[in-house]
Amino acid sequence: MMLRVNTVREDTGSEGPGHRFCVWVQGCSRHCPGCFAEDLWDHQGGCELSVDDLCGRLDARLAMAPTLEGITLLGGEPFEQAEALARFSTYARSRGLSVFCFSGYTLEELESGPIPGAVELLGQVDVLAAGPYLRDERDFSRPWVGSRNQEFHFMTDRYEAGGFLGARNRVEVRLRRDGSVALNGMAAFFDRPAMGDHAPQEKGPDR
Ligand code: SF4
Repeated sequence: MMLRVNTVREDTGSEGPGHRFCVWVQGCSRHCPGCFAEDLWDHQGGCELSVDDLCGRLDARLAMAPTLEGITLLGGEPFEQAEALARFSTYARSRGLSVFCFSGYTLEELESGPIPGAVELLGQVDVLAAGPYLRDERDFSRPWVGSRNQEFHFMTDRYEAGGFLGARNRVEVRLRRDGSVALNGMAAFFDRPAMGDHAPQEKGPDR
């Protein structure tokens, strides 16, 4: 089973609680006004990775960083690739990791709509950040989301809302060997992520 991916960052402290293995999927049909990840809309962008390869990379990272807390799925629209991400999330959970997933859909839309694999993916998610980024609702007072319409849903008891939402937004800046800079994370000044290469190694956000 294949995934279309823009970037994989194997260990970041800015995309959810603890250190996390993050996957920015490529492709989003929603085209929300104000979205600051427009270069992740194109379903032909990025590159393809098999879920098996991704699981292998996760295992390799876990061997190097056993304190990895979870995976984070964002994009792009993760639920447009829900079947493959459900499989990856199931594997991650089997390795003891938590799953934090973003979506431009509301939970009600995901639960009631005909999105293939949505129910399966929701069944693997510990925390869902749901709803599109809306420019007119811009608000950085909560961690990891950029507009006040977005809702956190605690789908399991793995995290407690108070502690989870008490985290502070962070930005990571990485200087690559070739001299380019990769950013990810959230901050009030962060109007536009520095989305860079399409090699699925390093990357920044959508919200
Ligand atoms: S805000 Fe999210 S759901 Fe909306 S267009 Fe951007 S990536 Fe897609």
